[in-house]
Amino acid sequence: MHELTVFHFMPDKLNLYSDIGNIMALKYRAKQRNIKLNVVDINETDNIDLSKADIFFIGGGSDREQSLATKELAKIKTQLKSAIEDGLPGLTICGGYQFLGEKYTTPDGEVLEGLNILDFYTESQTERLTGDVVIESDTFGTIVGFENHGGRTYHKFDTLGHVTYGYGNNATDQKEGIHYKNLLGTYLHGPVLPKNHEMTDYLLEAAAKRKGIPFEPKHIDNTAEEQAKQVLIDRARKNQQKT
Ligand code: GLN
Repeated sequence: MHELTVFHFMPDKLNLYSDIGNIMALKYRAKQRNIKLNVVDINETDNIDLSKADIFFIGGGSDREQSLATKELAKIKTQLKSAIEDGLPGLTICGGYQFLGEKYTTPDGEVLEGLNILDFYTESQTERLTGDVVIESDTFGTIVGFENHGGRTYHKFDTLGHVTYGYGNNATDQKEGIHYKNLLGTYLHGPVLPKNHEMTDYLLEAAAKRKGIPFEPKHIDNTAEEQAKQVLIDRARKNQQKT
């Protein structure tokens, strides 16, 4: 049986709103392709070898946990940056997405340094951006999720897509997330992957391709997933009509 390995960074600190479900979705859909997904939890980064990872995942967390996690991940910043540049597939959620950038300014004006892997920044406000989100994406089709963040993120990279319901990166430019090489960053919790099989398959397929193992069948029966997604889209549309 073919195998892929996911490095799950800081699961002890970054796991808001069932972000762990993303790992379960990766496992489930890998299994349907006869691929065994190994998960390595990494809470301390000393002596890790990122070349053993086929995918990496970082969940979301509060400002405090995010800041602790950043300090730990700063130790492998150079390794992580070059792996991302080399096309390592990764998914980073909310706080985990924010600290890939240069800095995060708290609502009190305190500046928390990010990993500065990509050139973007986040400014937080006390008023939180919370609720369901629907995005139209050229790569993934319609994406749904749930957001709850004070941070407003600004950048010029490609995004996951255009927000048709909810707030996204900053509540002003109607963009959500980041898509850089094989890295996906997003504000969407929920967790996002079980709700959006297209994103799950994207990560797995990119990892399989990179490792030179087959990803077959490419398409599987997604009737239940599509129906569940439609419920959320309909709910958002209904709420939109009310406002
Ligand atoms: N602390 C960040 C914010 O509120 C991230 C929160 C999260 O990961 N949900 O913007």
